[in-house]
Amino acid sequence: MGYRKLSDAEIEKQYALVENYHKTYLEMHGVKLPKLHQKGHYTLDGLVLVYLSLGYPDTKAVTKEELTQFIREYYPNTNDVQQARHLGAQKGFFIASSRRNDKEQLPPGTYKLISLEKIYPNFTSKRRQATLNDWDALKKSYGNRCATCGSKEGSASFMWPNVITQLQKAHMNPNKELTDDNVIPQCQECNRADRNNWVYDKKGRVIQIANALVIQNCDEDVQYEIYKLLYAKFEGKQP
Ligand SMILES: [Zn+2]
Repeated sequence: MGYRKLSDAEIEKQYALVENYHKTYLEMHGVKLPKLHQKGHYTLDGLVLVYLSLGYPDTKAVTKEELTQFIREYYPNTNDVQQARHLGAQKGFFIASSRRNDKEQLPPGTYKLISLEKIYPNFTSKRRQATLNDWDALKKSYGNRCATCGSKEGSASFMWPNVITQLQKAHMNPNKELTDDNVIPQCQECNRADRNNWVYDKKGRVIQIANALVIQNCDEDVQYEIYKLLYAKFEGKQP
């Protein structure tokens, strides 16, 4: 069976297309785009991605033999091209293989790039897995205690002796996404709705207000001090 020979210009152009889709649809899900070049050669991953994406979105099922022949053009000693499989299940590109994805009904021994806008079904990036594992590590670094009140997981809460402490992933800044650098463990008593008024530091202390309405509950002399500050800051402009 023949394969399609590609000029360097075609390879570059095709890779640029993949790169574009990746940036728009896949990167945010933790799919890493392999480089096309390394030390002056094309990379195997890059070549496979280029070949499977030819004609996108009307890609075709490519046999392992065809892919191998194409790759031999650049890596003459290649016998067995595993990259298509790895790029799919492990790296998150939606590349179906006849063996794994019955739903796509591919001819035996073939791979097909299904989409550059969706990730491989059930793909979880290493980064996300790490975050899930890191939760235990994070809690441990706090001695498995609430960052704010110090209650220990599984033990009675300091303030509410009838409550058994459960640690929860709590935002440091409730106005930002819950990411690795915006998370502290808090017990269920500290991690309540009213906490969304506050920004916490890593030690579980309040360092900012996160909700302007909090000002309404302040004493009037404090409100007046805030008013003076903001009046000066915004040079008396009407909001
Ligand atoms: Zn607490």
